[in-house]
Amino acid sequence: MRKIERIFVHCTASPQSWGVKELWAEFRQKGWKSPGYHYVVSADGVVHQMLAIEEVSNGVKGYNSTAINVAYVGGIYKANNTFGRVVWKPTDNRTAEQRMSLRRLLTVLKRKYPDARIMGHRSIWGEDTPDRWQKSCPCFNAVEEFKGI
Ligand SMILES: [Zn+2]
Repeated sequence: MRKIERIFVHCTASPQSWGVKELWAEFRQKGWKSPGYHYVVSADGVVHQMLAIEEVSNGVKGYNSTAINVAYVGGIYKANNTFGRVVWKPTDNRTAEQRMSLRRLLTVLKRKYPDARIMGHRSIWGEDTPDRWQKSCPCFNAVEEFKGI
């Protein structure tokens, strides 16, 4: 049995329309044998398991051996920069269904691993120190939102 110390919440930083197929294509393109997340919540609120908990996923470098990685599909929006080019910017665009399913999934996982800490990907750089974040993933304060779970 793996010792689970942290449950990381991510966004996929992809269009909200993406499903498991598109995510697998991206992971393979990166040369990954394992997916980035154990569970992914699509925009319709369906929870997809991409990897067994006992396997190690590619969510947070340096932490994966003791972590469960969970993601919602989305987390970016299309905008134009000052030169008129399309750029993707971080945003919390979770649907109501995703919010509900994510909370439910985390509740189940926390019950199974009561000693594990629920946190966002960016929380490893300090949730209260945005200037230190190397990524804004999952684009909301997961520590705050899920502290009651
Ligand atoms: Zn992440």
